[in-house]
Amino acid sequence: MEDCLFCKIIKGEIPSTKVFENENVFAFKDINPLAKGHILFIHKKHSHDVVEMTQKEPADVAEVFRAISEFALDQKIKEDGFRVVTNIGKHGGQTVYHTHFHVLFGEQLKGFGA
Ligand code: AMP
Ligand code: ZN
Repeated sequence: MEDCLFCKIIKGEIPSTKVFENENVFAFKDINPLAKGHILFIHKKHSHDVVEMTQKEPADVAEVFRAISEFALDQKIKEDGFRVVTNIGKHGGQTVYHTHFHVLFGEQLKGFGA
C-alpha cells in the first residue's frame, strides 16, 4: 500500500534494522523498544489489522507465527520465554495500520500477571 510506513520499510524505502526475512514475512527492530529485545514481525501483504488479515487470508497469520517460531528457536529465546502482542485499533493502542506482531524478550516482562 502506497502510503503505509511498514510497506515502505519492506520495500527498503525507509531504513530499518532487519532481523528476519523470508518470502512472505519481514521482521525488524522496533525504533522505540519496550524491552531489551523488541522486534516487529509483519506479513509482506498489506492488511490493516489482524482481524482483517484473518478474514482475508487466515494462512497469512500462520506464516507470521511460523516465522516468529523459527526466530525464537534460532535466537534461543524460547527457553527463557518471550511475548507476542498485536494491538488492534484505537483502544488497543494501534498506531501503525499495517498488521504487526510485537515480539518482546530478553528480560522479565511485566504486566499480564507476570
Ligand atoms: P503499535 O502501537 O502497536 O501500532 O506499534 C507500532 C510500533 O511501530 C511502535 O512500537 C513504534 O515504536 C514502531 N515504529 C514506528 N515507526 C517505526 C520505524 N520507522 N521503524 C521501526 N519501528 C517503528
Ligand atoms: Zn502496509
